[in-house]
Amino acid sequence: MRIGVPKEIKVHEYRVGLTPASVREYVAMGHEVLVEAQAGAGIAAGDDDYRAAGARIVATAPEVFAAAEMIVKVKEPQPSEWTQLRADQILFTYLHLASDLEQTRGLIASGCTAIAYETVTDAQGGLPLLVPMSEVAGRLSIEAAALALRRHTGGRGLLLGGVPGVPPARVVIIGGGTVGIHAARMAIGLGAETTILDRSLPRLRVLDEVLGGRVRTRYSHAEAIEHELRAADVVIGAVLVPGAKAPRIVTRPMLAMMKPGTVIVDVAIDQGGCFETSRPTTHADPTYVVDGIIHYCVANMPGAVPLTSSHALNHATLPFGLRLAAKGLAALDEDPHLRAGLNVQRGRLIHPAVIESLGPLL
Ligand code: NAD
Repeated sequence: MRIGVPKEIKVHEYRVGLTPASVREYVAMGHEVLVEAQAGAGIAAGDDDYRAAGARIVATAPEVFAAAEMIVKVKEPQPSEWTQLRADQILFTYLHLASDLEQTRGLIASGCTAIAYETVTDAQGGLPLLVPMSEVAGRLSIEAAALALRRHTGGRGLLLGGVPGVPPARVVIIGGGTVGIHAARMAIGLGAETTILDRSLPRLRVLDEVLGGRVRTRYSHAEAIEHELRAADVVIGAVLVPGAKAPRIVTRPMLAMMKPGTVIVDVAIDQGGCFETSRPTTHADPTYVVDGIIHYCVANMPGAVPLTSSHALNHATLPFGLRLAAKGLAALDEDPHLRAGLNVQRGRLIHPAVIESLGPLL
């Protein structure tokens, strides 16, 4: 198959769909890989690195889109990209359609078959292509909060870990999945007093087992949330209902219960956000203030560390991409987990959770 890798064009997105190491694997299996010039610049992979791996470098994105049978990307296609997609093409990338009506319409109009990384499943019921980026975002969320707490960035001037004689900050993490546990590890590592809330008792048991003694775990209902918000210095929003819009867990009136200057990091913003007052921000201008509460809502957090993120993402996507390259859409019939990634097929919206969120609006 002929695989195409355009350079990412979303604001401050420096990751790349295929690293040179992944290109080498595709080429070894007999596939042809076209890479847009400078596509790997954000991870210090030059065109010569791609050539050495066996790729053909082409000058522009339109050349990639025109020639490729499968496009492998990182972020959802932007308007100038989805208008180049065709009915005979596979798009393999993150899509996050449930909160993006315009893109959904664009993909449907293109007639392409779009497989979303974030809804591919595994035998344990997990989301293996979301995991690596959630690991990165979870760890980054605490770094982002630490920065936003600093005085020169507009914060309260609080050090997460405190010092001997000065108590540490209180970090509250809502959602104890991959993002949540990685945020917790960082928060604990920096010495913060850390609480995780989740709706899943089995998950709370795992967290207690793994992080026992170093975090408080708490069942997530409105009363517990309100209680935790009152004492928090940092709140991390890390909930997920797979494929669906994030539930609104912290409402605007709840902000008034919090200390002025509290930092909230809504990692779930890519699914619409779990705070009522969240709106997507970018790395260029990551925070804003509502009712005295500092909001950090960057929708592509792993883009800040593209080197780590691109390699971690490629390790997870490679086996699926190779199967698609080898068998085309027949790979979907053979693998129910890859089929779960199907969001749009030849101009029809397929994924049930996306249909539930957007169906009535289309
Ligand atoms: P996950 O499935 O591993 O964990 C989600 C957890 O939320 C689960 O344990 C679930 O039980 C819990 N949950 C669901 N409803 C809840 C509720 N009402 N109260 C408390 N907990 C609840 O998901 P994840 O991989 O940790 O991802 C979390 C979110 O982060 C997702 O929305 C994902 O898309 C997002 N994410 C964002 C970025 C970014 O750059 N902003 C990067 C990666 C992931």
